[in-house]
Amino acid sequence: MTADKALRPAVVLVADRTLSGDYKILFEGIFASMQTTKVPQSVMRRLLSPPASIDLTGRAHTAVLGLRRVEAALLRYTSLTEQDVVCTTPEGLQHLLGPWTEAVLFSSSDPLGRGMSNTTTTSFWDGELYTSFWSRALLTQIKEAKKTFDFKVIAGGQGAWQLKANPPKRRELGIDVVFEGYFESAGPELMTRLIDGEECEDYEETGTCTDKIVPMQGASTMGVIELSRGCGKGCKFCTMASNKMEHVDPDTIISDMVCNRDAGRRSVVSSSEDFFRYGGRGGRVNGDALLELLARMRGVEGLSFMQIDHGNVSSVLQFRDQQLREIRDMLSWGKKTDYLWANMGVESANGRLVKANCPGKMAPLDPDDWGENVLEACDKMFRCGFFPLFSIILGLPGEKPDDILLTQRLVEQLGRKQAVVFPIFYEPLFKEDNREDSRFTLDKMSALHLDLYRTCYEMNFRAVPKVFWDNQRAGGVSFAKRLLLRMLGKGEIRSWRKAFKKISQGMR
Ligand code: SF4
Repeated sequence: MTADKALRPAVVLVADRTLSGDYKILFEGIFASMQTTKVPQSVMRRLLSPPASIDLTGRAHTAVLGLRRVEAALLRYTSLTEQDVVCTTPEGLQHLLGPWTEAVLFSSSDPLGRGMSNTTTTSFWDGELYTSFWSRALLTQIKEAKKTFDFKVIAGGQGAWQLKANPPKRRELGIDVVFEGYFESAGPELMTRLIDGEECEDYEETGTCTDKIVPMQGASTMGVIELSRGCGKGCKFCTMASNKMEHVDPDTIISDMVCNRDAGRRSVVSSSEDFFRYGGRGGRVNGDALLELLARMRGVEGLSFMQIDHGNVSSVLQFRDQQLREIRDMLSWGKKTDYLWANMGVESANGRLVKANCPGKMAPLDPDDWGENVLEACDKMFRCGFFPLFSIILGLPGEKPDDILLTQRLVEQLGRKQAVVFPIFYEPLFKEDNREDSRFTLDKMSALHLDLYRTCYEMNFRAVPKVFWDNQRAGGVSFAKRLLLRMLGKGEIRSWRKAFKKISQGMR
């Protein structure tokens, strides 16, 4: 970036470095956010999380979806203009800050490294999660600049709850306001007040405000397109538990897709807590609405495939095979991917335990049939051309040894069907009074837990490299990079096996 071409924006939007990477597919972004500092920074920056590019004025070519929503809402609902608001990357930030800066908005999905999937990794690996390591580095940089230029720092994103619940930490990091929730709700008003010099409090909004969403003005990281917001299934460890699911209108979805396609993206990712529930009400799916949307999406030419992040067992089982196959066919444009995966939470094979922790998750299914239903959903997904990927939680409150054994049997059955299962340590939200006691940690891991964990990983060591390779191929990742990552992956597998052996020896 050259100084004469640099902008002087009043508001700068930036996300932590793991969210500011140039990822071609969703799996690349997920793996980058799971790494700890045991991986050298040079490997992260060059290979696992290469920086998203910026233009001569400091604007990022791609930015995380949440910041794109903030940018669009500020331009629509405040008097700020395109010259006043810039989405950038950590690398581009320093050139944009100056006496003209009124506010920096920082976004992270896991700023203190307390997200449930990520804490599981740190239990086994040395080092600190890059999400928190890089968040701290970026916030420290912002705090230093704030001393000179006297602007406000607002933190948001999916991990905002971690900062809100930890006032000493956020003071240490120089954060003035934590905004938790969807920005369209009160974000524009908050920003206007802050820019006018008013003191503002933290803000928490539990609604989804889909009616106020404004189409993106620039491409999103990994080509993420928002289909639905919220979930409402009530899982006690999830920030989406009480947010009823609402759906983004098709015109906005298509506009966001075109925006990504025009910026050169070839694969896109649907963002929803349950892709299969698009257009539905409560826990009911609406196959016609989903197929209608997908038909319109298919009309956007020049893409290769759309990835799904989350689904739900109870939603999958509501579809007939024929409908599910039609949906599957609509998700590829050009290069067909063999492994179109969807991640579904099983949590435990004991449906009653799941119901106690996730009251609405299985509805309308019977908790006593949960294990059977999971197997049926697995078969159905394979039959219809999807690749099922499940997650289970170790240490759910109320878990007994029999539950672990039952889950072990279910996982083995899923393994024989060639599915993938990711085990996750239970991590309560900060809101719980007994939070520290109820966290699941390595100290609480029994031999049964370790067997279960190891079984999942041995299955995944076989299947995940194939899925990763296939998705990278369809997403346009070069053969050389795929090969390099595959070799690094083999090293990771050896490290995991060593870690399991060490823990197992410590248990004797
Ligand atoms: S089903 Fe998933 S997204 Fe919904 S509340 Fe439960 S964990 Fe959260």
